[in-house]
Amino acid sequence: MTSQRTRDRLVQRLRDKGIENEKVLGVMRSMPRHLFVDEALAQRAYEDDALPIGHGQTISQPFIVARMTEILLSRGTPDKVLEVGTGSGFQAAVLSRLVPQVYSVERIVALQIQARELFHKLNFNNIALKHTDGSWGWPQNGPYPAIIVTAAPERVPEALMEQLAVGGIMIIPVGSQSGGQRLLQITRHVDGYVEEELDGVHFVPLLNGAVRQ
Ligand code: SAH
Repeated sequence: MTSQRTRDRLVQRLRDKGIENEKVLGVMRSMPRHLFVDEALAQRAYEDDALPIGHGQTISQPFIVARMTEILLSRGTPDKVLEVGTGSGFQAAVLSRLVPQVYSVERIVALQIQARELFHKLNFNNIALKHTDGSWGWPQNGPYPAIIVTAAPERVPEALMEQLAVGGIMIIPVGSQSGGQRLLQITRHVDGYVEEELDGVHFVPLLNGAVRQ
């Protein structure tokens, strides 16, 4: 179920859906996604679906992870990335194989602890985690040449705009749970920001406040 053939099939599906970056495809093939979900769901880990990870949250669909990663790297490899919404840690793990340093923030402490343990086990040492409301970003390590947000706010948080470096790129789903969401690509130039609307998507909401549960 978690065999190489199953993984190859997933990668072929990602290609069919338009993912072209070979480095991204290579990481998607090698990443043990079954370790990022509950054991009971492990046999579904290489299907192209979002899956529940507890606390009302989901691990994103592999296609969305690959797509957002590909866009994030489209202007070259950034030296660091800020991720908002660690969740299972899968997106952060994928990024950690492609960029030198990943910073990832999560509001639900239990998910953050689980991700930390898994990264330790996998020996992924270039991911720094923080328990915080990601609407505030992680200013101490900014500005960031790349920011990826994996939960949807209704509007792009001001702090994330500020922490985006000049020349940097942010990928963020924006919209409501009922009215539909769009993936936005925001680039920062010396004289301002340029926003492009990409695919329609469905992410869990970006919620306010850090919680201990
Ligand atoms: N990148 C994750 C996707 C998890 S779903 C993965 O690969 O598994 C989105 C995550 O964003 C959830 O874990 C949710 O708790 C978190 N989240 C929602 N609002 C947040 C906020 N304001 N700050 C930080 N994390 C938030």
